[in-house]
Order: sequence, then structure tokens, then C-alpha cells
Amino acid sequence: MKGVVVKSTGSWYLVRDEAAKLHRARLRGKFKLKGMKVSNPLAVGDKVEFDVETTGEDTAVINKIETRENYIIRQSTHKTAHAHIVAANIDLALLIVTLVSPRTSFGFIDRFLVTAEAYDIPTVIVYNKTDLYDEEMQNYQRQITHMYEQIGYDVRAVSARNNEGIEELKKLLHHKTTLLSGHSGVGKSSLINLIVPDLELKTSEISNFSDKGVHTTTFAEMFEIDPETFIIDTPGIKELGIVDIPKNELSHFFPEMRERLNQCRFNNCTHFNEPGCAVVEAVRKNEISLTRFESYLSMLHGDDNRK
Ligand code: GDP
Ligand code: ZN
Repeated sequence: MKGVVVKSTGSWYLVRDEAAKLHRARLRGKFKLKGMKVSNPLAVGDKVEFDVETTGEDTAVINKIETRENYIIRQSTHKTAHAHIVAANIDLALLIVTLVSPRTSFGFIDRFLVTAEAYDIPTVIVYNKTDLYDEEMQNYQRQITHMYEQIGYDVRAVSARNNEGIEELKKLLHHKTTLLSGHSGVGKSSLINLIVPDLELKTSEISNFSDKGVHTTTFAEMFEIDPETFIIDTPGIKELGIVDIPKNELSHFFPEMRERLNQCRFNNCTHFNEPGCAVVEAVRKNEISLTRFESYLSMLHGDDNRK
């Protein structure tokens, strides 16, 4: 049978088959990922082939993992030298942010976008809590939208409280596996509640299968919205994951810089204090926003706050 992993606790996996039935599954033998030390060989979103065991217990055995389109990793909390795969095969990331209570910093947004570029995951920025924005803030939000749209990002404005913009969000997700991210307090759970019908039912269905006593809050969970439409929630994880980007490659993950790189005088330009830098020139001419450039510089110098 074929299925997708909707929950991974490290030793047990919950696999959803093509008829939406859930199976508690384990891995046959040892799977190893080439060249990577990971604490979990399988993650939420992994597509697998499995057999249902006929001998009494209602369990399944996974014997094949499909090659991943992409995956996000973070430092393992248990074994520091290991990486932990958070989720795999993600088509889209929704970054939930807000201008108030609590305001999301550009530093955080841009760091997330850079990581998503590195993982090759398209990102939509979703400004929530628009019901709280006064006129001045609404103007500001439009300016921000313009700034990100110019670089090619999709920006949405929604209010979970007033159920505004939610239908449009749902359309974005259609037939995709979408990861929802954001700082705690931005309204991620409120939005998931609006997006996923019968969320409570699905959550309890999944947790019924989980190992008792295992702290599952740090593991990603996958919910079905419609057939072939899934969302992945990563409770407690606000950043997308870890990536190690060499300083002289950081600008490759800023789309507005990437398109100007071959115009710099030096091909190893870090766009900081080198003469003949096309990026700095574009910032001077207001063709690249100063806000984005500041995010770039703080990432370059490794001194950005991770708020
Ligand atoms: P999470 O931590 O990101 O999952 O955020 P929650 O969904 O728990 O929401 C945090 C707080 O923000 C709660 O008090 C929500 O009622 C509130 N909240 C969420 N969405 C909105 C919104 O669109 N407008 C307003 N005014 N409050 C919201
Ligand atoms: Zn340059």
C-alpha cells in the first residue's frame, strides 16, 4: 500500500493510506540517509510504501521511502551532533505575521524567507489580525505588501477574528501540502481552526495513535483539509529550520540581489563595502529596499536578533 506519514515520533509512525485510513507503522530494518546524521529517518510528509501485518496486531511495516522533493531540518534536541528532519515534501509555506500584538520583525520575516529560498519552498506572507490595524497601520501594511510583491512574494491580509480573507487562503492551499509557521501569538492556531474542518476530531484521531507519555508537541503534525490538500503544523517551532549558508552565497537567497549579482565588479562580492557593488548601488537608487538590505547585513554579520 502507499501512504503518507502524518505523524512521526521517532520510533512509531502514523501513516495515512490513499483511502484516508490511518495505520500505526514501523520501519523495516535500518534506513540510512546518505551523508547525513539524522535522529529520525522518516518525517511528516514522507511518502512511503508499506504492508499491513496480518499477524494479529493492527500494525504496518514501512519498506520503502520515496525520494523527497525537499525537507526541512533542525538541530536535534536529544543528540546535538544530529539533525532532526521536521517535515518533507512541502509545496508551500505560509508565514503568519502581524503588525500588532505582537509585531513581527522584518529581521524574522527575512530570515524565514532566506531559509525557505534555500530549501526551495515558495512562501506566502500572511498578515493576520488586520481587524486591529488603524488607518495608519493599514497604509503601512500596504507599503510592506508592495515591498515584498516587488521581489516576487505573495502577501495576504487576513483576520482570523473576523473570518476575513480565509476563503482566499484556502484556495492557495488547494492540492498542496502547506507548512504553517509563525511566532506564537500571531494567530496560527486560530487560522488552522478556520482552515481545517473538524480539526478537533482529526487531532484526537491522530493522538489516539500516538505513544502514551511521549511529548509529541515538538513533532510536526499533518492534517487533511480536502483530498490531496494537507497542512503541516510545527508546534513550538517558529523558525523554518537550520541552513548553513556561506556568507558569500547569502545574497543568492535574496531574489532582488540574486538578479544583480553578475553586475558587481567582483564575483565574490559580499555587497557590503566592496567598490563597484551593484547591490549597494541599487539600494542607493531605492531599487532595493533599505529594510531588506538591513536584514541582509545583519544576517551577513551574524548579529541579527532572532526575534
Ligand atoms: P498562535 O500562538 O499563533 O497559535 O495564536 P492563537 O491562535 O492562539 O492566537 C493568539 C491570540 O491572538 C488569541 O488571543 C487570539 O484570540 C488572538 N487572535 C488570533 N487571530 C486574531 C485576529 O485575527 N484578530 C485579533 N484581534 N485577535 C486574534
Ligand atoms: Zn556586490
